[in-house]
Amino acid sequence: MTPIFLYNTLTRKKEEFKPLRDKEVGLYACGPTVYWFAHIGNFRSFIFEDVLRRVLEYNGYRVRHAMNFTDVGHLTSDEDVGEDKIEIGAKREGKSARQIADFYIADFKNEAKKLNIKEPTDYARATDYINEQIRLVEILEEKGFTYKTSDGVYFDTSQLPDYGQLARLNAAGQKAGARVDLGEKKNPTDFALWKFSPAAAKRQQEWDSPWGMGFPGWHLECSAMAEKILGPEFDIHCGGIDHVPVHHTNEIAQSEAAFGRVPARFWLHNEFVLVNGEKMSKSLGNLWTVSDLETKGINPLAYRYLTLTAHYRSQLNLTDESLRAAQNALNKLYDFLREADNESDQKTPADLGEKYHQEFLLAVNDDLDTPKAISLVWRLVDDKKISAPDKKELFLDFDRVLGLNLNQIKPIEVPEEIKKLADERENCRQEKKWAESDQLRQKLEELGWLVEDTPQGPKIKPRI
Ligand code: AMP
Ligand code: ZN
Repeated sequence: MTPIFLYNTLTRKKEEFKPLRDKEVGLYACGPTVYWFAHIGNFRSFIFEDVLRRVLEYNGYRVRHAMNFTDVGHLTSDEDVGEDKIEIGAKREGKSARQIADFYIADFKNEAKKLNIKEPTDYARATDYINEQIRLVEILEEKGFTYKTSDGVYFDTSQLPDYGQLARLNAAGQKAGARVDLGEKKNPTDFALWKFSPAAAKRQQEWDSPWGMGFPGWHLECSAMAEKILGPEFDIHCGGIDHVPVHHTNEIAQSEAAFGRVPARFWLHNEFVLVNGEKMSKSLGNLWTVSDLETKGINPLAYRYLTLTAHYRSQLNLTDESLRAAQNALNKLYDFLREADNESDQKTPADLGEKYHQEFLLAVNDDLDTPKAISLVWRLVDDKKISAPDKKELFLDFDRVLGLNLNQIKPIEVPEEIKKLADERENCRQEKKWAESDQLRQKLEELGWLVEDTPQGPKIKPRI
């Protein structure tokens, strides 16, 4: 079996991946906060996790893929101050918190489908796991990791000797350098497990607890749901790079304190999508959604393709040009597949297909080296030694990982009337009647067909 290597943020090394349980892999991915549309920067995270899952499946593993929807507790800062984003969304749209979350969850699922992201095996909404979250705070309290302030129950990070190991945080340095107003917190890195409802304003979402009416802290949901769905120790935990210093650091602290171990063996993080050198984000307003791409005439799968051309641990600067180039590349690949069945006279040398397959497997098993896998695709397109039908077979195999819907590309069936118009145009061309020939080309375009003049004669293809 070809080994899989993954870069583990916890150890800062590429390590060979071996699952805890024989052939089944437990994977937890931090999902979206559902108070607004997810943007395509967010979706880079979910495409990367989808590719990871597909690589594991390609290698014969079954993947239990859990993903949460944060529908409570994520405040406007990633720290413990500010307003709950879901409550803000509810006020903005004059709807209930539940309606807001329902709407943006449905939109998220719809957009994810357009990007050909497989549905996780387990979706988990934070508000469906309130009892588990309260129970987790109780365990932490029993073990002496909590203290109460006037606005909530906090995790005392000084009680955990290796707090901050994921982000390489240095507790002593932080204390010395901290000029922040701690308020009632004992240490700058302490974080809320349970926040009390404010006395002055009525929250839409609040629950009774042993400590008083309130709502769970953002980090708590992931620890509680991951433990409930995947158990106290599972294989891989993923998310965006911004989760390293706070969210994942605090998830590890909670789970380690409560269950005695770091919950996941491997921690994988994707880098950001940038626009003009700045992180695409809701707060900067420099975002595009999947639907925005469609309005610009870009197939969402062209965006998926674009993310595959960069390694998930490198930043990806997005421009109109890079999106258009990705769309052109995808069209070219689709064109190739549409015509692959027509050419079959060539014989592929024995073992050549297997060599390509092995090379692809080595690339994706090397910490998901999709840029290498994509360059292999183009090398294969241009390889004269291998027949088109054999190339197609390889592409369909690679697409189990790439997820570009290559299996849905069917040979073109050109309607008779279109063929007739194209023939007429060709006759005009032969007779050098350029004006008529141009008119016929335009007519074909209006009917949704393009004519491309090649050395082998005119080729007709649908406009995508
Ligand atoms: P959120 O809905 O804000 O909780 O984010 C959902 C996921 O998207 C998280 O894993 C973030 O780390 C990730 N993310 C946010 N912004 C970007 C970006 N510009 N590029 C890549 N991933 C991002
Ligand atoms: Zn999380």
